[in-house]
Amino acid sequence: MTHSTDLARVRAVPEAVPLASVNGHRGLAHEEPLLFERDNPGAVGVDLPPAPKVTPRLGTVARRGPIGLPSLSEPDVVRHYTRLSRQNAAIDTNTYPLGSCTMKHNPRLNERLARLPGLAGLHPLQPVSTVQGALELIEEVARWLRELTGIPVVAMSPGAGAHGELCGMMTIRAALDACGDAARRRVLVPESAHGTNPATAAMCGFTIDPVPDDGTGRVDLAAFVAKLGPDVAAVMITNPNTCGLYETDIAELGRKVHAAGGYLYCDGANFNAIVGRVRPGDLGIDCMHLNLHKTFSTPHGGGGPGAGPVVLSAALAEFAPLPWIVADGEGLRLVEHAGDAAARGHHPIGRLKGFHGQMGMFVRALAYMLSHGGDGLRQVSGDAVLSANYVRAALMDRMTVAFPGTCMHECLFDDRFLAGTGVTTLDFAKAMIDEGIHPMTMYFPLIVHGAFLVEPTETESKAALDELIAVMADLADAAKAGDTARFTEAPRHAPRRRLDETTAARRPVLRWTPPADTAQAAE
Ligand SMILES: *Cc1c(COP(=O)(O)O)cnc(C)c1O
Repeated sequence: MTHSTDLARVRAVPEAVPLASVNGHRGLAHEEPLLFERDNPGAVGVDLPPAPKVTPRLGTVARRGPIGLPSLSEPDVVRHYTRLSRQNAAIDTNTYPLGSCTMKHNPRLNERLARLPGLAGLHPLQPVSTVQGALELIEEVARWLRELTGIPVVAMSPGAGAHGELCGMMTIRAALDACGDAARRRVLVPESAHGTNPATAAMCGFTIDPVPDDGTGRVDLAAFVAKLGPDVAAVMITNPNTCGLYETDIAELGRKVHAAGGYLYCDGANFNAIVGRVRPGDLGIDCMHLNLHKTFSTPHGGGGPGAGPVVLSAALAEFAPLPWIVADGEGLRLVEHAGDAAARGHHPIGRLKGFHGQMGMFVRALAYMLSHGGDGLRQVSGDAVLSANYVRAALMDRMTVAFPGTCMHECLFDDRFLAGTGVTTLDFAKAMIDEGIHPMTMYFPLIVHGAFLVEPTETESKAALDELIAVMADLADAAKAGDTARFTEAPRHAPRRRLDETTAARRPVLRWTPPADTAQAAE
C-alpha cells in the first residue's frame, strides 16, 4: 500500500444538496442566533423567592433601566452553548495540522490531575503555609524546564509565548541598562520570524533589523555577521525555525553575537522538535520562552490559557521578574516585592502578571512530563519529526517543497505547484475544510510564496496522517486537472461559505445592538 495514492478511501458525497430549509438548520447542525436575539421576556432560569421589602439606600446610583440581559430558561441556554461547542473545530474532533502551533493531543490524565480538588480549588491569596504542595509543584516544573534546556533560571509567570518574549526582551533591556549600555538598541530578527518577535522587540524600545535567509531557509550567517556592531542588543532566533529547519549555525551565531556584546534570544515555540535531544544552554542561548501549550500538551487558546515560562542564563538571572520561589526556614515561599528581591541582590524587571502564573497549566505540564519521563520526551521529538517527514515525503512529488532536504517537526510547501491553475493557497485551505480537515498554517513564514506550513505532531496516528496525505494529494491533483470550482466555491459543506476575512478582521462587529423597536419599548 502506498499512502498518497490510496484514494480508494475518497468517497462520493451526494451532489447539489439543496441548501434551503424552513428554519435555516442543516441536518442536525443548527443555525444559532445570539442569546440576545432569543430573548423571551419573562422567562427565567431560576425561581427565586420574592425579594424582601427594604428601603432602597442606593440613592443616585440605583439602576433606573433594565439591565439589558436576555430572559431565557436554563435548557435554552444549555442548548445554545452546547450547539456552539459542536461548531468548534478542535484537536478532540479532527486532525489539526496548524504549522507552528503544535496542536498535539491533550492527554486526559493531565485534565484529571488538574481537576483534583486540592489543586483546582486553590486560591492565590491563601496563606503560604497552606500551599506548600502547590509551590513545590511549580518548582518541580521549573526543575524539569531547567534540566531540559540546560539553562539555570526560569521565570514561570508569563502567560503565553508572546508574553514570555516580552519577559525575555525586558530582561535583556534591563541587563543592558544596568551596565549603562544605552547605545545597544538594535535587535536582529530573521525575516522568517514569527511576527511576535519584532513586535516584542519594538515594544521594548528596540529597533528591528531584519536578517535575510541564505536561500535554503536558514539565517544567512555572512549577512548576520555583517550586521553585528556596538549597537546590537540581541538577536532573536527561532530554532528549529519557522521553515521547519534546524539552524545549523546557531552555536556560531551565538558566539558571534556574544563576542559583539549582545545576547542570544531563542524563540522556543518549536521546542517540540528537539526536546530531550538538544539542550539550548549548550548552544549559548541566554534566554528562551517555552510554550507549555505547545511542547507540553496543555490546551491552546479557547481551550484554556497558555503558559510561557522563560529560561534565563546566569547573566540575566538577577533581572528575572517577580515572583519567584525560595526555600526559606520553614518551607517554600514567594519573593514578591522589590525590597525582598533587592535584599537578595536582584533587580527584577517588575511583575508581568497578577499572582504566580497559570497554575492549571503547570499541573498539566508536569503530568505530561512525569507520565512521559525523560526517555518519553525524547521519543516525542523523534516521532514529531518522523510524522512531518512522512507527510513531506508523501506529498513532495505532487506539491512543491519550499526547501530541499529533510525537515524537523513541520514541513513547508510553497504554491509553485499551483502555478497556472487559478487556485491559491487560501482556496486550497478552504477545500480542506470541505474534507473535514483543519487547514495548515498559510502564508507564513513570509519568506515563502503562498506558504503551506504543515505540522502533524507525534500524536496523529499513521491512519490519520494517511488521510491527511490522501486529501492533500487529491486536492493537488484536482487543482492541476482544472477542477477550479472545487476550490473557488469552497467551503461548500461548512456552516458558513467563504467569508470576507479582511473586513471581518478590520471592521469586526463585536457588539450586538437591539433592533430599534425593542430599544424603544424598553424605555
Ligand atoms: C506560537 C508561537 C509564538 C507565540 O506564542 P503564543 O503562546 O501564541 O503567544 C511565537 N513564536 C513562534 C515561532 C510560535 O510558533
